[in-house]
Amino acid sequence: MNLIEINEQFPTELDCIVHLEKVRYGKKPKCAFCDSVNLGVRLKDHRFTCKDCRKTSSVTAGTALHGTRIPIKTWFYAFAIISDAKKGVSALQLQRNLGVSYPTAWKMYMDIRGMMVDDNAKLDGVVEMDETYIGGKPRKNAKMMLTDSQKEKLDHKLYDLKEDFEITEGQYKKKYPKVKPKRGRGTTKISVVGIVQRDGNVVAEVMENLTARNLRKMVQENVKESDSILVTDEYSGYNRLSEIIEHIKIDHQKMWSYKGINTNSIESFWAIIKRGIIGQYHQVSPKYLPNYVAEFVFKYNNRHDDDMFETLVKNAVKTANP
Ligand SMILES: [Zn+2]
Repeated sequence: MNLIEINEQFPTELDCIVHLEKVRYGKKPKCAFCDSVNLGVRLKDHRFTCKDCRKTSSVTAGTALHGTRIPIKTWFYAFAIISDAKKGVSALQLQRNLGVSYPTAWKMYMDIRGMMVDDNAKLDGVVEMDETYIGGKPRKNAKMMLTDSQKEKLDHKLYDLKEDFEITEGQYKKKYPKVKPKRGRGTTKISVVGIVQRDGNVVAEVMENLTARNLRKMVQENVKESDSILVTDEYSGYNRLSEIIEHIKIDHQKMWSYKGINTNSIESFWAIIKRGIIGQYHQVSPKYLPNYVAEFVFKYNNRHDDDMFETLVKNAVKTANP
């Protein structure tokens, strides 16, 4: 749904509200409190008073849009703009397109990201699990405290490698080439762990501690263990997953794929998320990273869905306790 289509289908605020009512209640509007269809006439502010419980409610009562002062039509525009932008859109862009203030645009976007949830079935088949790191500054090289015998051993090894190393007290540094900030594990960047089903959906979450326990829990919550083959790299945190699932480790030093089994799908997802976050948002505060991740997961899982707009409308009027 693009902006012109929204204007044609829902010219007025009332049209938008009627649409929300249909999505939430079906044919007849109901009382948000007692579900009764025995309502009075529509009030000026579009709400209804229930003839059974005497309460007055709007279609957004108890939903993610509860109490919003922003017109529903503006929300509809925002749903359309955001679902159309594959790589995301900045709050500034949203502000310009919607004609609202920057804080309002920012808050709306955050709220909409909160609506970007799917209740998908567990993943199965060939599933790839991997972790990536987003934002933050690389941590300084950790100091290595070495005993004399360890140093001696290390010196021999370094000599064997014939690399130009400079050994200083308590740490070692590679002189040439310059040590690049370590990528991946060993940085202060925030880790995000993802599991993707081949040709299927993805789940991803911000995980502060990449412990075997947390990784295992994520598998158990999101994958049908008995019906799946899990593919990971050789990171030790994945070591004991073979206790709960058929597990193949791809050693990327030696091999990138075994019989077409690889971690390519999850890596394409990381590419999307990084392009999106770095390209569009530049920096993401750790506090909000889960919301950004949710947006990209939602867009990935709905990538074949022509009408993400309607999915957002549905999620917008979903209530916590249906
Ligand atoms: Zn009622």
